Amino acid sequence: MILTSCCLEKNALPHEKYYDFYYSATYSYNKDTLKIQVKNPLNCPLRFSISSPQKSIAEIVTKFGTLTLKEKSDTILNYYVKANGKISLAFHTLYGDLNKAIRKEKMSLPFPNNKVYKVIQGYNGSYSHNTSNSRYAIDFALNINDTICSADDGYVVGVIKDYNRSGKTEEWFDYGNYITVYHSKSGLFTQYVHLIQNGSFVKVGDTVRKGQPIGLSGMTGYTTIPHLHFNVKRPDEKEGLISTDIEFEEGYKGAELTENTIVKK
Ligand SMILES: [Zn+2]
Repeated sequence: MILTSCCLEKNALPHEKYYDFYYSATYSYNKDTLKIQVKNPLNCPLRFSISSPQKSIAEIVTKFGTLTLKEKSDTILNYYVKANGKISLAFHTLYGDLNKAIRKEKMSLPFPNNKVYKVIQGYNGSYSHNTSNSRYAIDFALNINDTICSADDGYVVGVIKDYNRSGKTEEWFDYGNYITVYHSKSGLFTQYVHLIQNGSFVKVGDTVRKGQPIGLSGMTGYTTIPHLHFNVKRPDEKEGLISTDIEFEEGYKGAELTENTIVKK
């Protein structure tokens, strides 16, 4: 019986929920004026939208749709509102500016020089690379504690590092550690997923160079084996970021990196 309860607990989803970055949004209501201040703390554009469970308030605050804030900027919005009692708002964010042109450049393989790794899942992989979020992701067979490097110059805009377990069902998708880097020259984002607990060398706000070690591989989240899930992404209106095709300066096209391909850097 003790064994059963131990293992059920081990396979249960984590109780805690960690977030990749924190932003501030404050609001006050005085003399029929609802004043909202939103702040983008990141070195990348951030899209904000506001909602409210109160129908009359929601109609007013959703009028402007989505607000795109440039890197490290803030704004104040004022609305004329007739409200009885407390106002309740919720804030939602998505990475990236839809109006910024994407200028794709070749990236560097996301691990150190002289390393050789096998691809265990490529583009459109049937296991988990079959949604707009992951269609062009590549899984490299890095082992636990292998070094992960930034694929291009950029800014760290998201880090989750506290998870320590994995599971084989899709509900584990949100419980892995990862780093998100924004590449301002190309407008692309890269994500490095399944890192070991506390395996990030970087924090939100850091500047990174192409090839710089940024963390250690692991097997947290939705996976059954240690590996690096490497995903290049671009802003999308509905989904925030979606997966996009990439080429590597080491001579590989992403589409060529199919299952069992050996990749040398
Ligand atoms: Zn993957």
